[in-house]
Amino acid sequence: MSWSLHNLFPICVKPTCPSFSKRHMLPHQEEIAKQILTGDENYIYWQGGVGSAKTMLYAAISAAFIITIPHSRAILFRKDYGLNYETLWLYFKQRIEAACIQGIVKADYTKLFSRKKQGDYTYCELPNGSTARAGQTKSWSEFMGPTYDLIVVSDAMENNNFGEIFRGEGVVGGLQSRLRGQPSSFFKLPNNTYKDMRRFLIETNPPPNVNELHSLFGREPGVRNLTDTPDPVTGRYITYRHIQTTSTQNDHNPASYVLEIASTHSNPDDIRRILEGKTVPYYGGIRVIDTFHPEIHVASFEVDQELPLFIGIDPGGQHPGVTFSQIKQCAYEKDHYITYDKTTYELVDYRNSDQLGILQHLGDFYPSYFDLEAYFQIRDKLLENIDDPSHIDSRILEGHFYRIHFCIDKSAERKSPANRDAKSDRIILSTEYGIKCRVKTNIGLEQSLSRMKKLHKEICVCNLPRRMIDRNCLMLIDAYSGGYRYPKRKDGTHSDKPVEDHRYEDISDADRYSLENFFFTKFSIEESRRDEVKRPIDLHPWAWMGEHYNR
Ligand SMILES: [Zn+2]
Ligand SMILES: [Zn+2]
Repeated sequence: MSWSLHNLFPICVKPTCPSFSKRHMLPHQEEIAKQILTGDENYIYWQGGVGSAKTMLYAAISAAFIITIPHSRAILFRKDYGLNYETLWLYFKQRIEAACIQGIVKADYTKLFSRKKQGDYTYCELPNGSTARAGQTKSWSEFMGPTYDLIVVSDAMENNNFGEIFRGEGVVGGLQSRLRGQPSSFFKLPNNTYKDMRRFLIETNPPPNVNELHSLFGREPGVRNLTDTPDPVTGRYITYRHIQTTSTQNDHNPASYVLEIASTHSNPDDIRRILEGKTVPYYGGIRVIDTFHPEIHVASFEVDQELPLFIGIDPGGQHPGVTFSQIKQCAYEKDHYITYDKTTYELVDYRNSDQLGILQHLGDFYPSYFDLEAYFQIRDKLLENIDDPSHIDSRILEGHFYRIHFCIDKSAERKSPANRDAKSDRIILSTEYGIKCRVKTNIGLEQSLSRMKKLHKEICVCNLPRRMIDRNCLMLIDAYSGGYRYPKRKDGTHSDKPVEDHRYEDISDADRYSLENFFFTKFSIEESRRDEVKRPIDLHPWAWMGEHYNR
């Protein structure tokens, strides 16, 4: 018989629906099904508001998939069997039953299921040789034996280790490595061409935090590459599709459904996240820089190689925060403070894949400002035959940073028992690495924060904010979006001191010190070099900017 995906849906019970008493999918489900089945993406990440009927569509696609592709193998996951039996697996069984009732599958529905585990059958085998089984992601490695044509994970945010489940750790592959079923890889279309129909379907309510799901599938909808390298055989990139839907797209919810859910949340961000499916992180507390708005302050920027680089450092124990910024002038000759990116790992000299110290970060991303190799060659030479690295002639190293200006929190002046000879961070940076840092004292936390809040309100006559942040500064953007927050008291008021979370606070502090030293304070390069006139490197390629900085 001829049938469509609509046939596998429940009979409509909404009296005012034009398709009342017929089987049908909702318009947004139909659109998404079309994208999943006709698109080239093997991986689908669907982030949808509550009640946007994600599980039902995945269940119907799963049933249609194994009916259409003979000898294919599907696995349907939720965190544990108990949850799966009440949602995805339940809906899947009902879709198969609907197929049997309508003669789409010519079999006795009750005879298709076998292998009882924890109270329900876990296997479904169709007359065409296809199978589907229920799985639980909490013990995902048990399901790694066979290869699959279709893998479905429902409510992915229930798993706090989704990256591991998906990709695996080290050489051990995750579920992704099992998506290689032959029947789906070479599925013959009616026009006698072949299509790769392997599908890995993931759905989730919008996670309350930016998390592993977003590192894998991004925060915004779209089709993007899953990996950086093309397939060695086909030359194609593996792609994924990120879909977002809102609760209101399901017009078969009760009329008051959205209102009922919205009424239980007072924070508009929660409503955007829970109902509209948007990526809106929730941090708790009260955000500190409440004048920051990503849609206004975040854009893409390129480093202006002609201008000096400003680096702000928060030494913060094991969690240093470091920002890299420049001050650019617009056509109205007004200064705009632009922050590019950050590093938050070991402070100065460190490399472990993408975790970089300041020197390595400068070498990788700002090679025209800093020659990492030459620096270390000279430093290694200076260290020869010297027992104490602070005895080297650090002025020779300072020359390597002649277009870079550093500042650091005053806490870096403190002698630290963790350092060798209990030296302060600032002394070590200066004497051992040639990194001289400005330290502005008596900033005053409250006054400083109010300068920050005010700055983020300032829009220049050129229509751009005085302060902008590059899209790549994910942690700083997250921090100002709410990660950098005041603790909230029970009575609704908040403390005046931001939460010391060793994450968002550190990067926000680094940014604030940099602004305090180089932007709020009139910064003069000439003055900062006053004591250094006798130094061998007296080339000042920024000399032409003197006027600009002394204004
Ligand atoms: Zn209907
Ligand atoms: Zn401007």
